[in-house]
Amino acid sequence: MQQQNQQKKQKQLFLKAVLFTIKLLYICMFYKLINMEIFKPLDMQKGSDNKQIENIENVRCLIIGSGPAGYTAAIYASRANLKPVLYTGLQMGGQLTTTTEVDNFPGYPDGITGPVMMEDLKKQAERFGAEIRFGIATSADFSGKKHKVTIDENKVILADAVIIATGATAKYLGLEAESKYAGQGVSACATCDGFFYRGKDVAVVGGGDTAAEEATYLAGLCNKVYLIVRRNVLRASKAMQEKVENTKNIEILWEHQTLDLFGENGVEGATLVRKKGTPESEIVKIKIDGFFLAIGHTPNSDIFKDYLETDEVGYIKTIPGTSKTKVPGVFAAGDVQDPHYRQAVTAAGSGCIAAIDAERYLSELK
Ligand code: FAD
Ligand code: NAP
Repeated sequence: MQQQNQQKKQKQLFLKAVLFTIKLLYICMFYKLINMEIFKPLDMQKGSDNKQIENIENVRCLIIGSGPAGYTAAIYASRANLKPVLYTGLQMGGQLTTTTEVDNFPGYPDGITGPVMMEDLKKQAERFGAEIRFGIATSADFSGKKHKVTIDENKVILADAVIIATGATAKYLGLEAESKYAGQGVSACATCDGFFYRGKDVAVVGGGDTAAEEATYLAGLCNKVYLIVRRNVLRASKAMQEKVENTKNIEILWEHQTLDLFGENGVEGATLVRKKGTPESEIVKIKIDGFFLAIGHTPNSDIFKDYLETDEVGYIKTIPGTSKTKVPGVFAAGDVQDPHYRQAVTAAGSGCIAAIDAERYLSELK
């Protein structure tokens, strides 16, 4: 009987231990669950406004972009004691980091490579105290007194003045060969790279003013320029059309599209198709050393469009002769507001203008 009682007690103890363990497991699971993102109240979740509020920083002058415009704005803004914070974006140093020789930026008598030049500009801005950070502006809100820019979707900068210097990206056709021969015969800037093709045969793709201008420019340097036009008309202005048509060494290839590029060490030619999709369709091969894209640019202005005025292409509109946008305290510099010149030196110049405009705006704000 006593033995039976003891066995019963042992069983009860065992059951209690099992129950205790199960309870413990439940408690652990409960804590694990409430710590998981989906079980948190909305205002505690990552990326929600409350989380971002923990991650807010006030700055006087925020610069977005690290091309010649952004770095020059940073040099001037830091020297004016605006304590600028600059976010580089994905392409630290901007478009020039994708090129080798830069021969037309003043101050380098023997030329300079794009990456080295941009590193020099960065160092110069840092020398005066500009804070240069890696990060991408993912959204903007210019509706309040302070300008709110979200970085990497998780940090909010509240700035008294913002300088937008996010540049513009050249459009490409989307051919694999364009990346294969990048820097080895494929370029999106004749003014920049044309010099390397003196006396050679090149092609320009596009039928707008840029293509016409680039073809005419290259015609002055090269032996022959093919202008590859997808329709049977040019979109370019009448004056530019006449210029192209009257330049002897430009041959317009009407209704041609590019299929591929070929060559062992760099571009040696292009395979085109004439009158694609028609019964007269034919494959045409041309021998060229350089292939220039001039089919338009896309300004990197998307995240600002709700607050700023842009033209039909997306270039931010500024008050002529200044960097001021329609929002007080928001300035734009460089290619993002320049449909015409798009050069490193003009971008740098407009970065300087933006920093001076920002400095004047901030001094009046006090
Ligand atoms: P960019 O240089 O385009 O820089 C834009 C910056 O904004 C980048 O740092 C990018 O990361 C950043 N950015 C973009 N979006 C965001 C975002 N959402 N958040 C944060 N940052 C962002 N010009 C010359 O004068 N001489 C040359 O020899 C020459 N060679 C060239 C060769 C090539 C291959 C190309 C493509 C262009 C060349 N150019 C040259 C043109 C020249 O590079 C541009 O005119 C100049 O870089 C424009 O400067 P920018 O500061 O306005 O913009
Ligand atoms: P654009 O006017 O948009 O012309 C782009 C050209 O590229 C068009 O001819 C277009 O063909 C062609 N194109 C586009 N995608 C193509 C593709 N996938 N394959 C082949 N061809 C393609 O661009 P832009 O010439 O750079 O000019 C932009 C703006 O700047 C314009 O307003 C222009 O007037 C201005 N601009 C002015 C000057 C000047 O005044 N000196 C100089 C340069 C630029 P379709 O015609 O068939 O669409």
